Amino acid sequence: MSFGRLGLFGCVLLLLLGCGGSGGGPATQTADASAQQVFRWKLITTWPKNLPALGMGPERLAELLRVMSSGRLDIKVYGAGELVGAFEVFDAVAQGTAEMGHGAAYYWRGKIPVAAMFSTVPFGMTAQEMNGWLHYGGGMDLWRELYAPFGLVPFACGNSGVQMAGWFNREINSLADLQGLKMRIPGLGGEVLKRAGGVPVSLPGGEVFTALQTGAIDATEWVGPYNDLALGLYSAARFYYYPGWHEPGPTLEAIVNKEAWESLPPDLQAMIEAATRMINEDMLSEFTARNNSALRTLVDEHAVELRKLPDDVIARLRDLSTQVVAEMAESDPLASRIYDSYMEFAAGVRDYHRISEQAYLETR
Ligand code: CA
Repeated sequence: MSFGRLGLFGCVLLLLLGCGGSGGGPATQTADASAQQVFRWKLITTWPKNLPALGMGPERLAELLRVMSSGRLDIKVYGAGELVGAFEVFDAVAQGTAEMGHGAAYYWRGKIPVAAMFSTVPFGMTAQEMNGWLHYGGGMDLWRELYAPFGLVPFACGNSGVQMAGWFNREINSLADLQGLKMRIPGLGGEVLKRAGGVPVSLPGGEVFTALQTGAIDATEWVGPYNDLALGLYSAARFYYYPGWHEPGPTLEAIVNKEAWESLPPDLQAMIEAATRMINEDMLSEFTARNNSALRTLVDEHAVELRKLPDDVIARLRDLSTQVVAEMAESDPLASRIYDSYMEFAAGVRDYHRISEQAYLETR
C-alpha cells in the first residue's frame, strides 16, 4: 500500500469526519442542495382561467406555495384548454405532462367509478362532514390507495358547500318534467338523473353557458350563486332550483404526479400538505361569504325565479341515489371498502349532526 493511497484514504476519512463533526455530512450536503433547488412545475386545471372561487383555488395555491417556499416551488397555473382539455387533467398529470392538477374526482368516474365518492355523493355528506371523513375518518388513506396505481397523489383542495340544483328552461313540477330533460350534471348525480328519465350530459364549465343558451341542453347545474353569476347563467335560463341534492358539499382535488412528489424535499412536501388544506378551507369560506349577495343580485337585478324542487321529486331522486351508490360499491373490493368507510362515517356523523348542526339550524 503506497503512502499516496493511504493519504487519499486518510483525506477522505478526515473530510467525512470533519464534515460530520461540524454538522455537514453527505446527507446534509444533499439536503442543502435540494434546499436551494428550484422546482418549476405546471399546474393544469379543469376550470376556465381565473374563474372566481373554483378557478382561484389553484391560483392561490400556487401563489401561497411560492411565498412559503421563498420561490423554490415555482408553479405556473394553466386554465382548461390552455395546455390540455379540462377532462384530460387526470391523464396528463399521471403521464407527467404537468406535475400537478386541480379539478374534481367525479370527473374521472368513467375511468374509476368510485372516485366520485371523494368529490360528492348525492344526498351524502356536507363539506364539514367530508373534511372529517377525509382527514380524521380514514378517507384520505383510501383516496391515496385508489390513485396510487395511476401514479398520482391526491389532496383535498377546495369545497363549494351545498350547491344549487341548477338552471332550468322548463319548470319542474313533477317527476314527469324530468322525462327527456337534457341536463349538464356530472358524477353520480348524472346517473341518478338518467334513472329518473333524464339525459345527463358531461360538459366542462367553459362550455356550459353556450350549451344552455343555444338549447343544446335544457338545464344545467354548475355550483351556486357566486360562481353561477360569474358564468352569466341567468341570461340563458329563467328558473333557478334548489337544493343541490346531487352535490351537498363537493370536495375539489389537487393531484400531484407521484415521481414529481417524491423528487421534493420533505419541507416542500409539507408545504403542499399545508397549502392544500388551507385552500380547502379558504374556498369554502369564500363561497360562504359571497353566495348570499350573489343570490340577491340574481333575483333583484336579473329577475331570476328561485324555485324549490317538489318533495316527491326529491324523494324519488333520493331512492335512486341509494341504488346508484350501492351498485358502484360492487365494482371491485377497493370500491367496496371505500363505500363501507364512507357509509359508516356518514351514518355516525348524521346521527350526531341531527342533535347538533341540524337541531341548531332548526332553532334559529
Ligand atoms: Ca356542480
